Amino acid sequence: MTTTTSRIPGLHKLSPRERLQKVAETAGLGDDAIAHLADTGNLDAATADSMIENVIGTLNIPLGVATNMVVDGQEVLVPMATEESSVVAAVCNAARQCRGSGGFTTAMSGSLMIAQVQLVGVTNPEFARLQILEHKSDIQAICDDTDPVLLKHGGGFRDVEVRVLEGRDGPMVVTHLVVDTRDAMGANAVNSMAEAVAPRVAEWTGGRTYLRILSNLADRRLARARATWSLEDIGGAEVRDGILAAYDFADIDPYRAATHNKGVMNGVSAVVLATGNDTRAVEAGAHAYAARSGQYRSLTRWEVDADGNLTGTIEMPLAVGLIGGATRSHPTARIALDIMGIQTAERLACTIAAVGLAQNFAALKALATTGIQKGHMALHAKNIAVMVGATGDEVDKVAQELVAQGKVRVNVAEAILKSLRG
Ligand code: NAD
Repeated sequence: MTTTTSRIPGLHKLSPRERLQKVAETAGLGDDAIAHLADTGNLDAATADSMIENVIGTLNIPLGVATNMVVDGQEVLVPMATEESSVVAAVCNAARQCRGSGGFTTAMSGSLMIAQVQLVGVTNPEFARLQILEHKSDIQAICDDTDPVLLKHGGGFRDVEVRVLEGRDGPMVVTHLVVDTRDAMGANAVNSMAEAVAPRVAEWTGGRTYLRILSNLADRRLARARATWSLEDIGGAEVRDGILAAYDFADIDPYRAATHNKGVMNGVSAVVLATGNDTRAVEAGAHAYAARSGQYRSLTRWEVDADGNLTGTIEMPLAVGLIGGATRSHPTARIALDIMGIQTAERLACTIAAVGLAQNFAALKALATTGIQKGHMALHAKNIAVMVGATGDEVDKVAQELVAQGKVRVNVAEAILKSLRG
């Protein structure tokens, strides 16, 4: 690497091609690397350039499709964008094993987002709280005037709530604007409302407003999914009890819960990304919700029904949209929605919750039975094969031999490839 400086004045004013040239010069990239980055695949450079700053290329991530999903009686193919092997296969397997029991049943608590306005500098916060609440109709008018398009689509202001918090330098009065953002994720929509309302809050109370931004703890936008896995379909009571024990572990131990929920998010984030939605927003909301009791816990719950079958449920904030951000500007994201046949943000969120539950089932079952590595390694072996330079049909041959030997390691892969090539 030959980076001489990270100062490249005016880089942002150049075209993606010119930027790439500049970065290549600075970093000492060769012609092959430049040609590689110049090929932006199915996201053209101009679109990419309109999405973020200082674009020099695009990064392709595999897009897979989860099969076997039945959500609220409807067959649905679910596109998933992920770099991690086993994630798509896990959803297909889990969904196949609950098809016989009717698949997934879902619901949504609503499409309400919360924007926060932080007020400081008042000595009588409880008094200020009531002053703000008294202006509910003014607040409604300001919010709805800010976004007439949202209003036209059936969304807009729904409620105002005011909390008094004890800050380090005195009390803080936090106004929550509760807004229905319909088919938009809604961050920009509610941020604009918070900015419009804030000066008036300062005026009504005599305090000073600082932060005006949404909360990603979208607990008025909970997606819920449930499913039953019959004993017959999962392989008996021992498997069920292993899954229950694994869940129990996650629910009492944050060290385990983090990995348990990471598995849930393997499925959730892959669909969020495939549809051009904001993975960080959903992840932040999920983890904050998992910790709402004061202890970080499982996003899913596993129980046994009266007939001894395994039942699973998930409930988590899922602020995703069909409008705004990359959901419309990224052509692949639009096609992902077409594959699912989804017309509303609510359906998308419910489907994602079902995928999260399926993913969790698959991980718990693997952990409780054969261990996670068996399934993982078969796919991981292919990555290792590519890593050591296998190409074409060498990839499968090397991977199969790695699995057969039970040693999915780079040094073993190198030796296998060498002997294959004679
Ligand atoms: P947006 O502002 O681009 O689009 C939403 C707007 O679309 C609405 O305000 C409305 O005017 C209009 N609209 C048209 N048809 C609609 C319909 N059927 N339903 C609802 N609205 C409709 O996007 P957004 O959803 O407000 O914001 C999402 C973006 O904000 C994402 O890209 C996200 O990454 C980004 N963001 C996130 C955060 C965060 O999560 N903390 C903060 C800032 C920005």
